[in-house]
Amino acid sequence: MNEIVRKAYAKINLGLDVLRRRTDGYHEVKMIMQTVGIYDVLTFKKSGKEGEFPNISISLDNEELPCDKGNLIYKAAELIMETYHIKEGVEISLQKNIPIAAGMAGGSTDAAAVFHGLNELFDLCMNLEDMKKLGVKIGADVPYCIMGGTALSEGIGERLTPVPAPPEAYLLIAKPDINVSTRFVYENLHADTLKQHPDIDGMVEALKAGSLKGITDRMGNVLETVTVKEYPVISQIKEEMLKTGAENSLMSGSGPTVFGIYKEKETVKKAYEIIKGLGLAKQIFVTEFHQTQEGRA
Ligand code: ATP
Repeated sequence: MNEIVRKAYAKINLGLDVLRRRTDGYHEVKMIMQTVGIYDVLTFKKSGKEGEFPNISISLDNEELPCDKGNLIYKAAELIMETYHIKEGVEISLQKNIPIAAGMAGGSTDAAAVFHGLNELFDLCMNLEDMKKLGVKIGADVPYCIMGGTALSEGIGERLTPVPAPPEAYLLIAKPDINVSTRFVYENLHADTLKQHPDIDGMVEALKAGSLKGITDRMGNVLETVTVKEYPVISQIKEEMLKTGAENSLMSGSGPTVFGIYKEKETVKKAYEIIKGLGLAKQIFVTEFHQTQEGRA
């Protein structure tokens, strides 16, 4: 096969809890991950050139991102090519649609797409477990992105249990004009002193029962305690989403992206116009939950 095209889907967290900070500095989390219909597009081609090992070239349509070793795409390709001793070169191009530094795992999902893409391009015969095991070396969210769909994520994010998808609904996703560093948020989180924890077990039950209300009633993200304090625009967007008819609204991951869940298409369309008009968000999307092929249990 000469060219592979893969869509790399963004995620939101329907619930995000941090249980404790481990002695190695990682945080133990308990999160509900959900892929949504916003995606980057990656194209993989064998370059056919003999070059230095590993021979990887990346082209991007986005000036904000590095196209060298600083890009998670490069890191994933390098790890795979070194592990499988791939001498042939690869050219990877990225069309970036997912907001950057947004709490939507944009970098991790691109890295995950590299696992699927190179697996196919070079006939590596990695199964999902092989890819997830290697993927966690790139980042804690990469194993989930390799799998996609709806999942309970535990440990540092590597312990994944697929759960049933939520019932159909519409999502309004809004990213204010700020970039948030995930590292900053985790470093400033005081996991031991958190007063409230979202009911993640209850949300798993609500997903199993197919109850949208059960899910929206339990949405919560402990990282809001850090990010919202720093950037009040996040709570403004959350409030506007509730005012415009969202069942509930929440910050995704370490932020600053906010999502609202709406039952009706007409309501979400109106909410989009209102929130866009207020100028609180630089990027704003209407989309739905997305269930990837890999995520189906
Ligand atoms: P998460 O939800 O996993 O915390 P995020 O959405 O907050 O991720 P990303 O968009 O993944 O954040 O980007 C975080 C940083 O990673 C960026 O500042 C960027 O420079 C770097 N990065 C490296 N490769 C990529 C990539 N392919 N796409 C996006 N960011 C990348």
